[in-house]
Amino acid sequence: MRQQIAAANWKMNLTYQQGEQLLDTILKEDIRLDSHHQAIFAVPFPYLIMANQKLAGKTNYFASAQNCSDQKSGAYTGEVSAEQLKSIGITHCVLGHSERREYFSERNQSLAERVKLCLANDIIPIFCCGETLSIREVGAQEGFVETQLMESLFHFSETEIKKIIIAYEPIWAIGTGKTASVEQAQEMHAHIRKIFTNHYNKATADHIPILYGGSVKANNAAELFSSPDVDGGLVGGASLVAADFLTIMRSLKK
Ligand code: PEP
Repeated sequence: MRQQIAAANWKMNLTYQQGEQLLDTILKEDIRLDSHHQAIFAVPFPYLIMANQKLAGKTNYFASAQNCSDQKSGAYTGEVSAEQLKSIGITHCVLGHSERREYFSERNQSLAERVKLCLANDIIPIFCCGETLSIREVGAQEGFVETQLMESLFHFSETEIKKIIIAYEPIWAIGTGKTASVEQAQEMHAHIRKIFTNHYNKATADHIPILYGGSVKANNAAELFSSPDVDGGLVGGASLVAADFLTIMRSLKK
């Protein structure tokens, strides 16, 4: 079975104290995750050490950064490098979130650099892709996502690409309360898997977890995750409410 993953994306929400409390409440439930299930918490940079310490005793729970620099090191005020993340024990990093692409002009080539730096530092990229509403309205989503993957990922070797987690996040569904239907999600996930089969091979494609993101909630997670190619979710708003995220964790395919 592929890894089934519930990934929380806190974005720029919560104070440090609220973040601690949220993690404490979630961890108190003590949901046991076997080797095919993971919970990942993408928290703001200043909370990473705290999150890592709280998750340290838990099997298959991980803290994640929400981004890293496309530069190795140096005079880049305000940036955080993959090497710096590694130096505090971080194992995962979200890359290419649509908010980063839209508000901070992150492009496919720069994301390719970030993926390279993460892999060089043993950090697993959670690589986001997905189309805008206008692209979906003209039916161009499949080609659009293929270009995103091709320009950022497909020069990596099979061994490297197998370390990556993909998050398919249709932009029109992020934070809008508008979820892709189960059929729309499954169709795009199967398409993404086919793209990986074509560029690598079926064994590689079958190995890579593809998460769905876009208004995953406690009341729709189980249905979305039940699709064969949906391996869990990248969750924004609902990850800020302990009870909701716990339900989402429990909704992963067994
Ligand atoms: C996200 O942050 O990646 C996301 C999908 O947000 P939301 O769940 O709030 O739509």
